[in-house]
Amino acid sequence: MTAAVPLPVLVPAGGGDGRQWRDRLELLSALIGGPGFDPLLRGDIIAFPRDHPVYWWGCRITGCERPRRENKMLCAGHEAQCRKACLAGADRAVWLREAAPLALTHARVPEPCWICGYRPAVRGVTRLCARHQHRWKHARGKAGGPGFGEWLAAQVPYDSYGGCRAAVCPELAYSPLGLCHGHESAYRFQGRPGGAGLPDAWFGRFEQAGRPVPVSYDDETTFGRWCQAALPLPRPGTVNLRGLAPLARAEIQSGLHAHAQAAEHAGWSLGWVQAIANACRGLDCLADLDTSRFDHTVRNAVTEMLAALQLVYLTPAETRDAGYLEYGHFGAGFSSRRGRFDLTAVSQRWLRDLLWDYTAAQLCSPQAPRSRGSYHNARRACVALSGFLEAHAPGGGHQPGLLSEEHAHAFAADLRHRASNGLPALGFSRADGKPSIVTGRSRNTVLNYARKIARHALDTGDADRIGLDRGFIVTLPHGGTMIQRTRRPFTDEIARALADPGNLARLAGTFDPFDRGIRDIWETIIATGRRSSEVIGLRLDCVGRYGGLPLLWHDQTKVGNYDEAIRIPEYIYQRITERQRKTLDRFEHHHGRPPGSAERARLALFSSPVRNLNGTRAISYHTFQAKFRQWVDQLDLGASCVAHQARHTLATRLLAHGAGLHHIRRYLGHVSAA
Ligand SMILES: [Zn+2]
Ligand SMILES: [Zn+2]
Ligand SMILES: [Zn+2]
Repeated sequence: MTAAVPLPVLVPAGGGDGRQWRDRLELLSALIGGPGFDPLLRGDIIAFPRDHPVYWWGCRITGCERPRRENKMLCAGHEAQCRKACLAGADRAVWLREAAPLALTHARVPEPCWICGYRPAVRGVTRLCARHQHRWKHARGKAGGPGFGEWLAAQVPYDSYGGCRAAVCPELAYSPLGLCHGHESAYRFQGRPGGAGLPDAWFGRFEQAGRPVPVSYDDETTFGRWCQAALPLPRPGTVNLRGLAPLARAEIQSGLHAHAQAAEHAGWSLGWVQAIANACRGLDCLADLDTSRFDHTVRNAVTEMLAALQLVYLTPAETRDAGYLEYGHFGAGFSSRRGRFDLTAVSQRWLRDLLWDYTAAQLCSPQAPRSRGSYHNARRACVALSGFLEAHAPGGGHQPGLLSEEHAHAFAADLRHRASNGLPALGFSRADGKPSIVTGRSRNTVLNYARKIARHALDTGDADRIGLDRGFIVTLPHGGTMIQRTRRPFTDEIARALADPGNLARLAGTFDPFDRGIRDIWETIIATGRRSSEVIGLRLDCVGRYGGLPLLWHDQTKVGNYDEAIRIPEYIYQRITERQRKTLDRFEHHHGRPPGSAERARLALFSSPVRNLNGTRAISYHTFQAKFRQWVDQLDLGASCVAHQARHTLATRLLAHGAGLHHIRRYLGHVSAA
């Protein structure tokens, strides 16, 4: 009989998410070994170059040798100096340019002795191990002794003490105890578990005499355990993943990879990554980690890693089974970071699956809607239908075969009845828990989307497959025109209040304390009639003069193309120029230098203070709307106003001045029948 070949271990299925950790390790190993994966991240000790585009770690003062503090720009020393100088009135940008570099207070990893090669050098200028250092001191002390070079040439190397016995440590042992300098200090600091020690005066008595140095223990096993459990020493620019379970290590490696792939990301400190790795010691995987002991920055990093892993671990079909859809599986990013589309509010499995299939088909189509609105409408329609079926269909509508024409009729009738009487929607509640009232607008949206999704199932053959009656589908009526939310122009009184210089000053002073340009955005919207999102998203270089006339390029990709430019009043031109100056100052304030031309081309005019070291990201639409609303609320205008109404106000004014409707439409870049 031949020796038994070990069979792959089959792990019993368990847990809601399907795959067990062995499968996961296989998936990740394939990913990590694949061609798109940064080879730097494959090692168990990852040493990042100082200027790595994502995981850079050096202080940004020219010539400074120290590492940055956490995810800050500067080392701790320069940060403290800078704070002090700025408090004393210095200009940060100027200070950054003129700051003198700081030297490392301790080397990253002790270098080997010049002579021994395998013993670490003690600190100092000579780069000698303790024993050679001692000999050199002795020789130098003698009258008429040799010069350093001459002495050096006469030296012989000593035996190495080997590598550090701390299992995770790549460094050389510093003494016969077998630990590197850092781990020897840590061992002493932790009360010398196991009592490992060297004899008194071991250097003179044993080593110098050429005898082996005996190491004594109270309990060698305890010492061994300490060595196994010791954490890696903090080394700038390095993430040490030794000592982790293979899956946990692969998860952190792919988490680092996924983070570096994102166009916009929070600045991670390598110290945080190391802290995560250290906390994973003894765990199978990242999901087992208790993150409550971390602060929110580290917790966010773990959450981001876990979210990226979900995309690898779960196939789209598995998310369908679990009742959600990952946008990331379809390459759809949207601007919001949350990538999960939850469908569990639809209680009938067949309906939920139809919705999933419809959404997936939309995401894969070349005409995929660019915002989430249309996906949310589709879900809303299914939730409404689901709620109705639960209440009125046989068996709660869980068996599609039991549904017929009459149920489709009844659903539409119920919805119309609710809309005319202002009743709450079935199966639907708002995020704040209050019932959602059916309006004419939501009625039309629900009917249209319910019909679209059902028809989609008919086209794909899924309706037949699940036994959903054709009569039910064709009876679902059209909802009619999708009613846009009514946007009336501002009344003269409101328009005056929203353009009043005193009120505008308050918008800037009270509601935009960090001067992110809320007032400038609002005034540009009034003057140009562009959509809020277009104005918020303006790049730095969006204005210019042509034949002396100030122009604004609203299409970011077409700067210099005069077809895409609009005339702006001189006053707005001045405001935007002033804003450019502030944004450039802010960049310089941060970096201590003006942006390079490639960097400048990517700068946002209204740059966000969050996750935005390079100034490329504009403040969010939500931030602007929130500030605008707070401002409007305190003006107490007796009517609700949204910034978008400015477009319509502008349109009415143009009409009043005799412009034709087609001109206005072209001007507003807005072709709608409304
Ligand atoms: Zn520094
Ligand atoms: Zn030496
Ligand atoms: Zn060590």
